[in-house]
Amino acid sequence: MTTQQFTTLCGRTLRNTDSQYFPSAQYHGRVIYLCTEACLGAFLADPKKFHKAHRKSKEKPPKPAAQK
Ligand SMILES: [Zn+2]
Repeated sequence: MTTQQFTTLCGRTLRNTDSQYFPSAQYHGRVIYLCTEACLGAFLADPKKFHKAHRKSKEKPPKPAAQK
């Protein structure tokens, strides 16, 4: 049994699993993976926007919700 680690385009690192269980697509000549079908749908709808949005969110983590 082989285990591998890979990172989805949306920034999730998946370990001890097989990429065949995750949706994949071609992007800039490379095969990229998404964590869910919903993610894949969003990516296919607008790959550029999706990639940009997730790169941004990686650099700048979302603010915690304001508490009263
Ligand atoms: Zn995802």
